Formats: sequence, C-alpha cells, structure tokens
Amino acid sequence: MLLKLSVHCYQFTLNIKQLALIMLTVIVLLPGFNVHASASNIIGIRFWQSPDKTRVVFDMSASPTHQLQLLKNPHRVVIDIEDGRLDVDLTKININSTMIDRIRTSRSSESGKLRVVLDLKRAVVPKSFTLNPVQNIGNRLVLDLKEPQEKVVAEKGITRATDLKKHDIFVVIDAGHGGEDPGASGYRGSKEKTITLSIAQKLAKVINQQQGMKAELSRTGDYYLSLIKRTEIARKKGADLFLSIHADAFKNRKVRGSSVWVLSDKGADSEVGLWLEQRENNTDLLGGVDSVALKNYEPDVAEVLLKIQTERSVRLSHSIAKNIIDELGKIMVVHNKKPRKAGFVVLKNPAVPSILVETGFISNASDEKNLRSSSFQKKLTNSILKGIHAYFRSNTPNGVKMASLSSNVKSGKTTHQIVRGDTLSAIANQYGVSMSRLRRTNGLKSDKLLVGKRLVIPSQI
Ligand SMILES: [Zn+2]
Repeated sequence: MLLKLSVHCYQFTLNIKQLALIMLTVIVLLPGFNVHASASNIIGIRFWQSPDKTRVVFDMSASPTHQLQLLKNPHRVVIDIEDGRLDVDLTKININSTMIDRIRTSRSSESGKLRVVLDLKRAVVPKSFTLNPVQNIGNRLVLDLKEPQEKVVAEKGITRATDLKKHDIFVVIDAGHGGEDPGASGYRGSKEKTITLSIAQKLAKVINQQQGMKAELSRTGDYYLSLIKRTEIARKKGADLFLSIHADAFKNRKVRGSSVWVLSDKGADSEVGLWLEQRENNTDLLGGVDSVALKNYEPDVAEVLLKIQTERSVRLSHSIAKNIIDELGKIMVVHNKKPRKAGFVVLKNPAVPSILVETGFISNASDEKNLRSSSFQKKLTNSILKGIHAYFRSNTPNGVKMASLSSNVKSGKTTHQIVRGDTLSAIANQYGVSMSRLRRTNGLKSDKLLVGKRLVIPSQI
C-alpha cells in the first residue's frame, strides 16, 4: 500500500519531504488509520511442547494470509506470509521443541512475501490455522507439528482399563488450562495453569501411593489441550472418575473458598456458576482449536449428551463431589455444602463420572497465598483423596474388585511404598499425620527408611 502510493506520487514529482508531509497529513486526518494496518508483522513467537506435538504460536500485528509447505531433504516447514515482516529477534528466541532445530526468515524478491523456514530434526505432519483476538491475546498464526505416526504412538500410550489390576480405581486428573490458555490471573499475578498443574501432580502422586488406586494426568506440562481431548482421554482410558482442577478468578476479589461442580445440562445454577461456565468454555478460543474442529465440537457433544443417558454419570458425580466437599470443609472455606451445577464442556462425558474442583479463587489474596503454598496444596490433595476414598469405599464400580481398597480403608491401613528420596517427615507431612504416630504404627526404631518397604499410614480416613 505504501509502495503503491509512493510510486503514484512520484509521478507528480514530489520530493521525499513533501511525500512524508502528505503521508503524515493523511494519517492525522484519518482517525484510527494505521499505516501498517494491512501488514502482518510477527511480533512474538512462543513454543508449547506436549508429549506428541510441538505448537508454534506466532503473535501477529494483524490477521495474516499465509501458505504452508512441507519440504524434504532436509525436512523443513515453510510458511509464506503476505505483506509480512519480522519484528522479533530470532537469536533471542528459545526454541522449546523436540522437532524444530532452527528458525530463519527471508523475503521473496518476486512476491515480497515474508518466508519463515523451520528446519526440522525429523519428518513431521504440519497443520496451520489463524486465531482471532480473544481477551487480551491478539491475532495469532498457529503451527502444529505432529509425529507422522501419532496415532500409533498414542494408541500404544493408552492405559486401557483391562491393563490395570482388577481392583484399581482409575482416576484421570485434569489440570485446567495450559499453554496458550493461562487461565485466570491471581491477585499477585499467579497463573491458574501453573497452580492447577502443581496440584494435579501432587494429587496423582498421592493417589498412586494408595493400594487399589491409580491416577494419570490429562496434561503433563505447560501446553494446551482442548476440552474435548481431555474428556476423550478419560473415556478412552476407561476412567472411573475424571477430576478437573481449577483455581479461577472472580470479578469480586472478596469471593474466596473452594467449590465442587458437576454437570448441568440446563446451565449454571448461580451467578458465580455462569461466570465460571463462560470463562471455562472459552478456553478453546484462547488455546486454539481450529475453527473446523470448533464447529463440529458443540453439536457433537450436545448430541452425545442427549443420546446417551447421563443421569447415572451425573448422579455418581454428585455423590463423589459431596464426599470431596465434606473433606474440603474440614480444611478451608467452602462456598456451599452441596455440589454446584454448571454447563462445563469438560464435564460433558456421559461415560465417566466427572467433577470440577475449584480449589479457590486466585483473585482473592488469601486464597492465592494458600494455593501457591506447597504445604497447603498437599493438605488440599489429601482432602480430595479422602473424599474419593470415602465414595469408592461404599460404591464399587462395575467389574472393580474393591476388596483391597475397602479393607485397607476400613482398618485405616493406607500404605505408602517408600521410594528413593522419601523421608519420614515428608511422608508424615504428605498424609497429615505426626512422625511419632508413623513410628509407633510401623514399629520404627529409627527414621532410616528402606526403599521398597511399605509403611502403614495410621487412621488416614
Ligand atoms: Zn479455570
């Protein structure tokens, strides 16, 4: 645009100063006019590495028109951006990817397009799409690089219910948000995605230390995972429970405390519920499901929801949620003694009882302080574990033999298998029992621990 105008003006033999003056006048006279309005400048590059995918997000000054090519010998991905410019220093970019070796750019002398070349470490399957501005994130060009045999790898990686020991209660723990979607921002700037992952990891660890229970994480690092993928993981793995962890913000910073949510197909039961529901269900706009996937998403879920009977699943979810609330109420403020209801997409999973635990509001200074603290996170995860225990102790899922779990729980014999690095004080802290009780119950004469040995945890429930 700038080029055309200058050529045009040149024919009227204007000198550079006059031209600049005219351009300036045009800019001043047209409010909101931006000389680079049509240029698509790359103003930032971010990398998100997940177990099977590298996502590269280019922050753009405007919605870009681009073409994607995959080239071989050597493997590389080429993106041509019309009217593009590079406004970042590539030497200062940390490439967090198992697939990309280097990024460089050039400009096509013929078309004037900006060419971005990603030199790859191996063959990949690329996919690109653009995302419109959402909340405080602007235009983006997203490039997803997947393993060519992604499906094979993913299938192999799936733990099927049949692989588990018969008595294992299998829980998929879902750390809310991640990658492009940071979730809520705390009173002092904590990110929800970081807090949820930390709590989810602690909860998985403590569940995996229980006899008769097993947990896996839906998201294992800082990357984006669509809501539907999260529910799919739980379904495909045959989970007995899907538990999504969140720590949202609310417009009123005085609001604090935890709450446990179950699915409602009629929408939210309260103002807080409506607020959370809208924010949570927005995550795919932030995190970047491409428009095609998003279009197919809601009706599919809605259809499944209608067709398959969800009543049973919701009833179970309600019951588990109630048990968890009872435990949380012993250690912190809870909003409501009953489970709350909202139309969270991540809970729309007819086959698997699904609950969402709001561990607190990070918009509240006290809640944020607690949620950042490792010892509070441990207390919290122990309470959630107790709630899950309490439920499954009296409700055995089909085909699951609860003998081991229920007898252990009833007699207070939760055990902990000692792993390298464990100390008696850390174990005591983890289960919320005193060291002297641990010593007494296990007849320990010293605090030296033998790796592999099981300790009985006294009266945990
Ligand atoms: Zn959230």
